[in-house]
Amino acid sequence: NVTKKYVEMNKEELEKELVKLKAEYKKYQEMELSLNMARGKPCREQLDLSMGMMDTLSSDADLSCEDGTDCRNYGVLTGIREAKVLIGAMMENKPENIIIYGNSSLNVMYDTVSRAYTHGVMGNTPWCKLDKVKFLCPVPGYDRHFAITEYFGIEMIPVQMTPTGPDMDEVERLVASDESIKGIWCVPKYSNPQGYSYSDETVRRFARLRPAARDFRIFWDNAYGIHHLYDDDQDYLIEILEECKKAGSPDLVYKFSSTSKITFPGSGIAAIATSLNNLEEIKTQLGYQTIGHDKVNQLRHVRFFGDLDGMKEHMRKHAAIIRPKFETVLNALERDLKPCGIGSWTNPKGGYFISFDAPEGCAKAIVDRAKKAGVTMTGAGATYPYGKDPHDSNIRIAPTFPSVADLKLAMDIFTVCVRLVAVDKMLKEMN
Ligand code: PMP
Repeated sequence: NVTKKYVEMNKEELEKELVKLKAEYKKYQEMELSLNMARGKPCREQLDLSMGMMDTLSSDADLSCEDGTDCRNYGVLTGIREAKVLIGAMMENKPENIIIYGNSSLNVMYDTVSRAYTHGVMGNTPWCKLDKVKFLCPVPGYDRHFAITEYFGIEMIPVQMTPTGPDMDEVERLVASDESIKGIWCVPKYSNPQGYSYSDETVRRFARLRPAARDFRIFWDNAYGIHHLYDDDQDYLIEILEECKKAGSPDLVYKFSSTSKITFPGSGIAAIATSLNNLEEIKTQLGYQTIGHDKVNQLRHVRFFGDLDGMKEHMRKHAAIIRPKFETVLNALERDLKPCGIGSWTNPKGGYFISFDAPEGCAKAIVDRAKKAGVTMTGAGATYPYGKDPHDSNIRIAPTFPSVADLKLAMDIFTVCVRLVAVDKMLKEMN
C-alpha cells in the first residue's frame, strides 16, 4: 500500500507505482465483470419496501376519496385532496399551492419550460419568439436538467456550486444584468451530484433575487427532500415559497418533487408547488393536456403512507439499505486515494450520489478505463451543460443500485483506475 503522496514521489517511484497499478488493473480486466455505478436507481430491496402499496387496493377496495370522488373515473385535474395534503406535507407547502401530476417530476419540469417557450410566462413574450434565452446552471449538476434546456435551444451558463449552494454573488450579478436569463436549475437539498444542501442565507438570497427579466423563474427541484441517510444528522432548509412571499416576489419560484425514490421510480407521483398566480397559468395548460392524472396511484400512495410520519418511517428503511453503500464508496476512497493525495469527494448526509473530483484532465480517461474493466460510471462531463466539464475532473458516483459486494469490487477497480490515470499523467508531464 502507498505510504507517500504521489506529488512527493520521484520519477522512479512513480514508474514503480505505475507498473504495480497496471498489473492490478489487468487482473480486474481478466475477471470480465459487469458492474454499474452510473444511474441513481434504487436497488431491488428498496423497491421491495413499497410492495405493500400494491396491497392497499384490492378488487373489493372502495376507490372513492374523502370527498366521495370515484378515483376510477375521469376528473379532478389538479389531484385528489388527500394526495395534495400528503405531498404538501412532504414538500412543506400548503395543499392549496400544489398540483399533483403524473409519474415523473422531470416531465413536469419539461412541461414548465415548454409552456414558457410556446406561450410565455404571465403575459410575457413566449421564449420561442426571443432572440436569446439563457438559463443558469449550477455545476456540477443534474444532466437531465441540462438536457431539457439544451433541447429547447436555451443557452446554458454554468455557475459554480459550493457546499452552501450556487455562487450567489454570481447568480445575483447575472440575473440582475441580463434580461435574457430566464431561469436557474436548482437541486437545493442533497444536490445531484454532490449531496450539498443550500444554506439559509442562500435560500434567502434566492428569494430576494431582483432579476432583470420579469419572467425569470427559479426551477427548484426538491427531488431529495426527505432522503436522509442518518437519523441524527440531517440537513434542513428554510422553505423557498414562504421566503419568496416574504421578500415580495411570491411568483419567483416553481418547486418540483416526486415520490420516485420513495416508492417506485417511474410509477410514483410528481407535483409542483408554486404561487396561486403561477398555478392559475399552469392549470390553463393542464386543462388542454389532460382530463386528469392517475388518481388510483395517488390513492394508493395515500393509503400506503397515511401521512408524513408514514413516509419518514419508510425513508428510514431506505436509509438502512443504502447507508452501507455510501459507506462502502467512501471507505474505498479514503483507503485507496487519501494516502496518495489524489482526488477529492463529497460526504453527503442524504440524496443519491457522491461527487468525485479527479485531478484535472483525468475524468474521461478514468471513466474509460473503468468501462474497459467492466465498471460503468456516469459519463465524464455529464454533470456539466453540453457534457463539457472544462476541467475534465468531475465524476458522479451512484452507489444505490449494486449490492454492497459488487460495490466493493467496483470501487476497488475505480480507485485503481483513478491512480493509474493520475500516475500516468504525472509521468507524461515529467517527460
Ligand atoms: N430531479 C433530480 C435532481 C433527480 O436526481 C431525479 C432522478 N435521478 C429526478 C429529478 C427525476 O425525477 P422523476 O422520476 O420524478 O422524474
